[in-house]
This record gives sequence, C-alpha cells and structure tokens, in this order.
Amino acid sequence: MPTNRTFTMIKPDAVQDGNSGAIIKMIEEAGFRIVALKKTQLTPERAGEFYAVHKERPFYNDLCKYMSSGPIVPMILEKDNAVTDFRTLIGATNPANADEGTIRKLFAKSIEANAIHGSDSDENAEIEGSFFFAHIEQF
Ligand code: UDP
Ligand code: MG
Repeated sequence: MPTNRTFTMIKPDAVQDGNSGAIIKMIEEAGFRIVALKKTQLTPERAGEFYAVHKERPFYNDLCKYMSSGPIVPMILEKDNAVTDFRTLIGATNPANADEGTIRKLFAKSIEANAIHGSDSDENAEIEGSFFFAHIEQF
C-alpha cells in the first residue's frame, strides 16, 4: 500500500447509532478518497487478532467483546499525508480529550466505544487494510 493511504473502521457503537453516513461525509469533506469500503462483523477471535498488539493491556478482553458486538464499516482511504491527517480528523482516543469538531468528539461515547479507528503508521495501515481487504479494486 502506498504511504498516502490509511485504514479506518467505523466501530459498532457508531454503526448501531446510525452515524456511519455522517462520519463518511466528514471523511470525504476532509479530502479523503474512499479506496475500499464494506460492512462486516468481527468474531471475538478476529477482533483479538486485529488488536493483538494490545494483548497484555487491561482493556483487551473488553475491547474484543465490544469490537465484535455489532457490524463495523472498514475502509481504506487515500490522501496526501493520510495517516497523520486522519488521526487529526478523528481526535484523541478518549473523547473527553478530543478536540472540538473531531469525529470522536462528535460521536464517541467513551474511551472504549470511541466511534472510529485510525491506523497509527504507514506500516500498520498496510497490515490493517490487508486484514479486511484481500484484493483492492483500483477505481
Ligand atoms: N481502548 C480502551 N481503553 C483504553 C485505551 C484504549 O478501551 O484505556 C480501546 C479504544 O477503543 C481504542 C482501542 O482500544 O480506540 C485501541 O487503543 P489505542 O491506544 O491504539 O487507541 P487509538 O489508536 O484507537 O486511538
Ligand atoms: Mg491505536
């Protein structure tokens, strides 16, 4: 995956609340192009695999339960400086600390149910994108 791409997923709380459309609108208005998108649901095992880096953290089991509790909308996005600009758009992990106007400030319920994921590096964007999209159509 080129370095102008990032990976995101709209998390179960935001999908359940009917906020997918509003969030996608914010993403597009911020200049990101959608390269791939689908709606799917993780099993607890698949969620555990996705978040394996957090295996030793106290919140890991709850996170896997939450992330498999309902449908999610994973996407691959394209923009110059995609990883960094997308982290800015979504805001801090804990919505209490997120800047005004960020996706998490607007839609997150808690530090766990925080509406959206954003890759933290080009390397992880590639790994996480491949986790959900085996073959990417070029539009
Ligand atoms: N998380 C949690 N409790 C914490 C920290 C994180 O439940 O104290 C959850 C939250 O959903 C977060 C995810 O675990 O988005 C991954 O954590 P990370 O530190 O990577 O935050 P992110 O990169 O998503 O901002
Ligand atoms: Mg992270």
